Amino acid sequence: MKFVLNAFLCVLVLFLITLPAQQQAPGEKLPSTPLQGFTANSAQQERDWEKKFRAIPSADNLREYMRLMSSHPHHVGSPWDKQNAEWMLARFQEWGWDVHIENFDVLFPTPKERHLELLEPARFVARLQEPPIAGDPTSNQQAEQLPPYNAYSIDGDVTGPLVYVNYGTRDDYEQLDKFGISVKGAIVIARYGGSWRGIKPKVAAEHGAVGCIIYSDPADDGFAEGDVYPQGAWRNKDAVQRGAVTDTYYAGDPLTPGWGSVPGAKRLEIKDSPLITKIPVLPISYGDAQPLLAAIGGRAVPPTWRGALPITYHIGPGPAKVRLVAKFNWDIKRLYDVIAKLPGSDSADQWVMRGNHHDAWVNGASDPLSGMVAVLEEARALGELYKQGWRPKRTIIYAAWDGEEPGLIGSTEWLETHLDELEQHAVAYINSDNNTRGFLRVSGSHSLERFLNGVARDIDDPEKHISIWQRAHALRIGDATGAEGREELRHRSDMRIRALGDGSDYASFLDHGGIAAVDMRFGGEGGEGQYHSIYDDFYWYTHFSDTQFVYGRALAQTAGTAIMRLADADLLPFEFTDQADTIKTYVKELEKLLKIEQDEAKEHNLELDEGVFGAVSDPRREVQLPSRKEIPPFINFAPLENGAEALSRAAQRYDSATRKVFDNSGAKFAAASLHELNEKLYKTERLFLSEKGLPGRPWFKHQIYAPGAYTGYAVKTIPVVREALEQYKWTEAEEGVNTVGEILKREAAQINDAASELEKMNGK
Ligand SMILES: [Zn+2]
Repeated sequence: MKFVLNAFLCVLVLFLITLPAQQQAPGEKLPSTPLQGFTANSAQQERDWEKKFRAIPSADNLREYMRLMSSHPHHVGSPWDKQNAEWMLARFQEWGWDVHIENFDVLFPTPKERHLELLEPARFVARLQEPPIAGDPTSNQQAEQLPPYNAYSIDGDVTGPLVYVNYGTRDDYEQLDKFGISVKGAIVIARYGGSWRGIKPKVAAEHGAVGCIIYSDPADDGFAEGDVYPQGAWRNKDAVQRGAVTDTYYAGDPLTPGWGSVPGAKRLEIKDSPLITKIPVLPISYGDAQPLLAAIGGRAVPPTWRGALPITYHIGPGPAKVRLVAKFNWDIKRLYDVIAKLPGSDSADQWVMRGNHHDAWVNGASDPLSGMVAVLEEARALGELYKQGWRPKRTIIYAAWDGEEPGLIGSTEWLETHLDELEQHAVAYINSDNNTRGFLRVSGSHSLERFLNGVARDIDDPEKHISIWQRAHALRIGDATGAEGREELRHRSDMRIRALGDGSDYASFLDHGGIAAVDMRFGGEGGEGQYHSIYDDFYWYTHFSDTQFVYGRALAQTAGTAIMRLADADLLPFEFTDQADTIKTYVKELEKLLKIEQDEAKEHNLELDEGVFGAVSDPRREVQLPSRKEIPPFINFAPLENGAEALSRAAQRYDSATRKVFDNSGAKFAAASLHELNEKLYKTERLFLSEKGLPGRPWFKHQIYAPGAYTGYAVKTIPVVREALEQYKWTEAEEGVNTVGEILKREAAQINDAASELEKMNGK
């Protein structure tokens, strides 16, 4: 990070010196760009209302909401979780929204017994507790806190030799194979990071391990990053990351795949849920991990596996031997989703949606409240405009989800319950989780990329006083590798947004519902070291994060502006040239991936033939010679290329049709009924779904974006093809190429349809 930042500053200076004349110099206001999807007349009205809107959010309110909501632990099933939901209900009412609470009853295990002990070569009993810190007033609420645990770990009491597996990804186990080290019958210790935490016990169990310990290494979010709490923001030796460790088949309640967990719903038996881990799992601090790691012997780790503890990291197995006990109360707990509506005036059946979760692991100031309080302050401001006479065209729905932490449950169960209505009515969903100081981070559906760029150009950075777009763009240039990457960034008018994987409540909307989704937040300049520990609280947030709540206010201004534009636009601001361009980059990546796999396999076999492995291995170590690799066959990517090309042509046609219609925005356009055309536009995202879903994961229906089956959070784009290539499943890859090629053509046809309607208005 520090290196990157230095490089970034140098490049930033260069960049500012070489700013083209039409670009904004720091501190100058941007000339208004035309509002995408608005006629000249309605754009003026929109600008006036937006200006009023952006003046309303108050940093003091954000602070006060956070202070109150984080004043007690508020995990699923706790009294304060319900209290917060009821408090928000009352606020929405006061602000003029039509609001109700929707309940779901879901599986939420809590710890009954946790024990971790080093038996050999010396005895050590892990503390498994986070002590209160003097001066941090909520850190001593032990009676109300959930102790550190991983939710949906199976019950177990296991003993075995300890093996260190780095991040515990599939690549790490491949490395272990090369060293001739097996984890069969062993308990593995993996560090957080490198993959979503749920992947670690999954891959460990696939390799025969009987238990899994996950710890936070100081290299990743502790003293190697900065001063530790309470002196600094970063994780101290006692802080533990809690979190769910379910398998990746579907999101939501493990007992109700594909349907809503409404009270009284049918449920799977716990033993039949594929989401529960196969082996027991326990998370620990680096204070607890150090004696365990120090007791491991055997081969020293390769350099990239080293953490920051002052020990030599060994892989094992043994002589360290541990006993791990994890047992849970497998209870059904009630969720409280708060759902609030502002009715639309003329397209009330088109819903623009916004939300974040309100449940936390403990006091949850950063996660989730830093995002949630911005969502609330927007709702207050929109309510204020409504009282002043503003009437959004479309219905606006604001949601505060419960049960996100254990598995995106509140949002997923709500979506599954209302799927038919949402299929028809949902325009888009915008999410905001953990927010801190720094740069705008926006990911989402690429049909909204241009739109989101437009919004970001109109919002001031609260500390730099340039647009948040300029800051984020400059950071991208600073981070770009190679002249080519930087050139592209400078010459592409829209900053690329990233694709969405997993990790917060947008996932079900996009992956299961085919609803265009966005996640936005600020980050990069506030410590993030207390994630899911008892120290992620109001004291920590107000000392080390967005201490003045000005980025909270900026988030409310940004997302609120986006919601207003989506709700008010004459023509919904979906745009497809950026989408087509992005999908073409994915297709190129896939072709490159296959080529790399072919080259690597050939090289690997050649080195085997030449005796390279035998010659370079340490003669004093036992090394298993790797086996020969299958050479990946050539695959015909033409259906995918043709699909992407059709999409690209349709996108250009639609783009020029929109430009024309807004250039001569005469009576024809203003009088036309755009209702159906708009529906066609937002339903383009639905067309990316395939009914049968991804192989082995039918709940995941989106064919452009999905979280990886073996990475969790991180996105796999065109997942059916990419994962098949990664897993050497050639028939599946070829079938995927055909499926996605057809889907891209279907998308292109819908966009052509929309374009031809606009062309008719243009009198063509
Ligand atoms: Zn969160």
